Amino acid sequence: MRDTIFALATAPGRAAVAVVRLSGPDSDRALAALAGSPPAPRYAALRTLRDPRSGERLDQALALWFPGPASFTGEDQVELHLHGGRAVVDAVLRALSELGLRPAEAGEFTRRAFESGKLDLLEAEGLADLIDAETEGQRRQALGQLTGALRGREARWRGLLVEALGLLEAGIDFPDEEVPGGVVDQALAALRQLREELRSALSDARGERVRDGFRVAILGLPNAGKSSLLNAMSGRDAAIVTPLAGTTRDVIEVSLDLAGYRVTLADTAGLREALDVVEAEGVRRARAWAEAAALRLFVVDVSEADGQAWKAEAGVLRAGDILVLNKMDLGVGSEIDGAKVFAAACGFEVVVASAAAGVVEAVEAAVRRRVVHSLAGGDPPAVTRLRHRETLGAALSQLDRALAPGRAAELVAEDVRLAAGRLARLAGRIGAEDVLDQVFASFCIGK
Ligand code: GDP
Repeated sequence: MRDTIFALATAPGRAAVAVVRLSGPDSDRALAALAGSPPAPRYAALRTLRDPRSGERLDQALALWFPGPASFTGEDQVELHLHGGRAVVDAVLRALSELGLRPAEAGEFTRRAFESGKLDLLEAEGLADLIDAETEGQRRQALGQLTGALRGREARWRGLLVEALGLLEAGIDFPDEEVPGGVVDQALAALRQLREELRSALSDARGERVRDGFRVAILGLPNAGKSSLLNAMSGRDAAIVTPLAGTTRDVIEVSLDLAGYRVTLADTAGLREALDVVEAEGVRRARAWAEAAALRLFVVDVSEADGQAWKAEAGVLRAGDILVLNKMDLGVGSEIDGAKVFAAACGFEVVVASAAAGVVEAVEAAVRRRVVHSLAGGDPPAVTRLRHRETLGAALSQLDRALAPGRAAELVAEDVRLAAGRLARLAGRIGAEDVLDQVFASFCIGK
């Protein structure tokens, strides 16, 4: 018999309404003890809640009764919509404790929903992400994942593995009999197809960029105006701006909501020959952050635009990155022409700014365009967090092994079983059993 658990489902603190949830076999007994007769299933009813020991009134509340299995957790559940005062909530929680119910652990309601098959692991993760969503992009992606956007693709991959396994077993068990020619080749073709799809899923960073933030590194020589740009774009003084060169030693990150996407801007140490060991570490971190970022902004002080120093450091950039010609207020003429030619040759977009004066609209617009272009639209990404990347990566390694030249069919079949086991972890399914069931169901050899 499982424990019956309870918890405050809404945020702690003073509010108009606070919701307390119960789940487990004693939910109905607890409801009766507090509120008397139960409401009709799934209908809200007004009830006076009383302390079961003293009979004292605790609150007047809405009570809902969700008998299992048609509930979120699959168990009997109760929801109490209380007046959201601290003392009210405390009194009700205390009464539930005294009735022998146990406070829920973090994530325990969702875990019970997963264990009773109401959600798979991907959907449970989608639910967690939906609760954490701060931007429109995060909300859309999480809601898609919660409502099974990835289920079809995962099922298709599983189907390819099952198909390959069936063909391989046919080739192994009946090598000389009347099975269609080239079954092992057909199996390898299915595996190659799957390998392509997994590679393409893994090369897609959109899901993680939506969920964790689209990372934009601000780079450039010391004093180019990187911190000023970060501050102007984030609209607050998040980075320390000083006229001394080499003062930003660590990476300073600020998250913004641009066009409904979470964008993490990072101010980094100026790129130059470091004068001391601390600055050298700052430069190392700047390069590492830049390397992993989705986009790089390289800030150039226009008064130095015709010099060579910044070009020597611009090797950290890639085609499609953005060159920010800053301090336009200083008045410039033809000296920026050379920078534009250089940028065009390297495939960098050029925008102008006066960061210290807060004139950064062109930079924001360029970043926004890039974010929308790379994150909006298309099929939902298969990978939205590291766990998916690792799980699919492990399945892919098994496929690489299976597809090694000259590998015997028996060993390939074993690799495929292992790959299926890896893939089954994506949705939290225990794999091997249902893979085998499908193999035997879909192949009629020996009939
Ligand atoms: P960082 O070392 O690249 O982060 O550069 P900072 O943002 O600390 O700026 C270095 C100096 O350049 C500071 O004195 C800023 O006030 C100045 N600065 C930054 N942006 C501009 C600008 O658009 N115009 C002018 N005239 N000065 C700027």
